[in-house]
Amino acid sequence: MAFHSTSNDTIFALSSAAGRAGVAVVRVSGDRAGDVIDVLSARRPKARVAVLRKLVDPQTGGLIDHGLVLWFPGPASFTGEDLAELQVHGGRAVAAALLRVLGRVEGCRLAEPGEFSMRAFENGKIDLSQAEGLADLIDAETETQRVQALRQAGGVLFRLTERWRAKLIEAMGLVEAAIDFSDEVDVAEGAVGQAEERVRELGDEIGSHLNDDHRGEILRDGFQVVLAGAPNVGKSSLLNVLARRDVAIVSSEAGTTRDVIEVRLDLEGLPVVVSDTAGLREASGDVEREGMRRTLARAQDADLVIRVVDGSEGAAGVDIPSVGSSGEQIVLVNKSDLIGEAGGNDAVGDIRVSAKTGEGIAELIKIVALVARRKTGTREDTVITRLRHRSQLASCHQYLLAFLGKTSDVELRAEDLRLASDALGRISGRIDPEDVLDEVFGRFCIGK
Ligand code: GDP
Repeated sequence: MAFHSTSNDTIFALSSAAGRAGVAVVRVSGDRAGDVIDVLSARRPKARVAVLRKLVDPQTGGLIDHGLVLWFPGPASFTGEDLAELQVHGGRAVAAALLRVLGRVEGCRLAEPGEFSMRAFENGKIDLSQAEGLADLIDAETETQRVQALRQAGGVLFRLTERWRAKLIEAMGLVEAAIDFSDEVDVAEGAVGQAEERVRELGDEIGSHLNDDHRGEILRDGFQVVLAGAPNVGKSSLLNVLARRDVAIVSSEAGTTRDVIEVRLDLEGLPVVVSDTAGLREASGDVEREGMRRTLARAQDADLVIRVVDGSEGAAGVDIPSVGSSGEQIVLVNKSDLIGEAGGNDAVGDIRVSAKTGEGIAELIKIVALVARRKTGTREDTVITRLRHRSQLASCHQYLLAFLGKTSDVELRAEDLRLASDALGRISGRIDPEDVLDEVFGRFCIGK
């Protein structure tokens, strides 16, 4: 996309959701934002004070709507540029008319997805990790996701990496001093010793953050639960029961049983994604084999695998599916309503439920919530919420260890510190290649 050509265009977009609503918010950012207000509403209000104005089409003189006008002169605005915000009635035609008029103002064009945030980044209002936090805040579906995203948008990770960088720069200064004073062995060794001390502390601190059981990432992506089991044990029925609970956020349309079907749940504020995959059994056809492959792949990465067995089958015939997974596993016996009649095999399971009568479902939800809470925890200091952060921090950590592992050649060791500092700088995006920026901002929607 590469829209961040530091273009001088003034951009505008509907920043509230598209469609019918009480109020629609249109933002205009750039050099012409003030002129836009003048043209549409005759004069600019005082900075940061909302005023009710008639918004008029300058070409026809026709009234577009009455709306609130806000004026944020740069750099004290979200983007750091001059910014106008127009709040009009949220009818589709009202927003459309306003956008049409804005499109005719010279130097103004519709914003690309994420372009407002991109400008805020370019103008130093936020760093890359805060931009990601804002995107997560917009996407947050549960309470714990909201809290985590808010912390990140507020700059928790940014401030931490800046502090680490400052410490690293101190160590780099000491190493530089050692290079400059290499003739005076005592001075040089003393300086290197101090640098090592700082790097060791830094390494420990970063190491402890890396060692966080991926809590932040699990929270951001949702705690992944996979239902695994032979066909007809009742996996889709279980998923349907879960989807009908008031905790379900979104229930996907059921496709064929060979597709992965997901239900996103909000369990006590934790995002939990339960998926039903193709049944595990001897595959006969190619499609089925592909379905099995997906089941196993998903189970492999799952945080919790629920192995479902049919309680109506006699204990002798019970087939507890075996799946490899790095996550926890529980065995669930379904069709508890049929157990009495056929002898049953409920002894094999950790939990007994009936998708048909609803027996045990509340208990099932409780167990899933318990495991999810244990794995995401409430560790206050979690700052890594994406693979991008983790890989840069891990790389930084490795360079620090490389520095500590070497004993000779101060110049080479200085290079390790420089590379470690670059890795930290990539988290805030100060030294990122363009494609990383495109990746981050391209995922925003228009108007953000
Ligand atoms: P899947 O292939 O594992 O997804 O199994 P389904 O959910 O399609 O269920 C297979 C059959 O078992 C269907 O006829 C369901 O109505 C039935 N079934 C599922 N759960 C229960 C249950 O708890 N009790 C009873 N009696 N039947 C069930």
